[in-house]
Amino acid sequence: MMANKKYLLLIVLLFLSGGCSSNELVEEDALAARKAMVMVQIKQRGINDPKTLEALMTVERHRFVPDRLQNQAYDDKPLPIGEGQTISQPYIVAYMTEALSLVRTDKVLEIGTGSGYQAAILGELSDHVYTIEIIESLGLRAGALLQSLGYENIRVKVGDGYQGWVEYAPFDVIIVTCAPRHVPKPLQQQLQEGGRMIIPVGEPYQQKLVILRKLNGRLVQDDVLAVRFVPMVNDAGSTY
Ligand code: SAH
Repeated sequence: MMANKKYLLLIVLLFLSGGCSSNELVEEDALAARKAMVMVQIKQRGINDPKTLEALMTVERHRFVPDRLQNQAYDDKPLPIGEGQTISQPYIVAYMTEALSLVRTDKVLEIGTGSGYQAAILGELSDHVYTIEIIESLGLRAGALLQSLGYENIRVKVGDGYQGWVEYAPFDVIIVTCAPRHVPKPLQQQLQEGGRMIIPVGEPYQQKLVILRKLNGRLVQDDVLAVRFVPMVNDAGSTY
């Protein structure tokens, strides 16, 4: 009788564990999916910077998406992360990262922490990363996740990134992952002379990703890519 009960318990446990993990990825599957992502979506589309590729291989993207979407974490698309926001498509993350040509000593500011995935990629390449998220629940979750993954070099703040982060300015690099209609003045001011900024600018959901460099106190601009980011908003939810 006892033996039968134990058996039953074991079967129930096996069933439950199988049932719960249907959308979750085991390590080997995640690694294989990540390799395929880097090869097909990133390398074959012309991203060749070895440091960018290595960072994309290292960071476990499936940890940054909701459990029920883990099996789509390495697909070629953005995914919902709650609060109506999304984690960007892997190619866009790689494109923006490569364009920044980061060195370890660069002090980097990101606006739009979201899931924390882009911040983790930046954290692989730079010793000083600052990131701001306006939606409290997302900022807190990303902060806790990044800390649990050991990123002591990344500082997360909940607030309006339009204003930048004066206490730590100037920044060598600013990367913006939500889109205002114009380049925020405070971000221009907080960019170091010679520093670079990558930012999607334009109407909601229809923008150009531009790379700017600060030369003699002025921003010099190159248009690069048509993109679709969520709009930058203020505390009242209005678009900038
Ligand atoms: N970089 C993120 C994806 C960004 S989605 C990742 O890797 O997952 C864009 C994010 O910008 C959203 O989470 C949105 O809430 C945030 N956002 C919008 N306006 C903002 C503002 N003014 N300041 C800071 N974050 C803002």
